[in-house]
Amino acid sequence: MKTALVQLIRALNARGWSPATSTNYSFIDEHHQCWVSRSGVHKSEFTEQDFMTIDELGVGTGMFHGIKPSDETQIHLWIYQNFPDTKVILHSHGKYPVLISQFNEDNFTVQGYELQKGFRGCSSHLDTLHIPIVDNHQDMSELCQILTTRKQDIQQHCFIIAGHGTYAWGTSLFEAQKHLETLDYLCECEFLL
Ligand SMILES: [Zn+2]
Repeated sequence: MKTALVQLIRALNARGWSPATSTNYSFIDEHHQCWVSRSGVHKSEFTEQDFMTIDELGVGTGMFHGIKPSDETQIHLWIYQNFPDTKVILHSHGKYPVLISQFNEDNFTVQGYELQKGFRGCSSHLDTLHIPIVDNHQDMSELCQILTTRKQDIQQHCFIIAGHGTYAWGTSLFEAQKHLETLDYLCECEFLL
């Protein structure tokens, strides 16, 4: 998992989805241990050594005791708590979801695209999907409170933070990547339209 995720993090960086050391990533290993990306690392140079283990409060454990993970780790923990089958979480600063969030409030609504089926549970391009857009906050506990009030709206394993980026997750790295790319593609289509 770790090696494959490192490759994906670098590939996403090459697409311009994580400029200036931004974004963060996490996964749950086979021992139910949560690993998160350390902050301040440029994602073009990200390695397996740039992951750290955390406990359920987001505090570094073992050899990572005393090392502070990214502030946005709280969002990862919120997703794992509220969607317990999640194994991988990807955060992106891709431009199209950010642009979409500047022209839409509360939801990004989309219908009529074959690629909607990239979301687990969506079987037709005719479905109307609503992806929640939540306001950005620097206070992560405030952001997580908003996410809790919107939880029932989160149906496609992803959401957009306005003016900021996206979070997408899955039961595997493959699925998390699929959800992230599906959301970005749909935002790109609608924005260009
Ligand atoms: Zn971010």
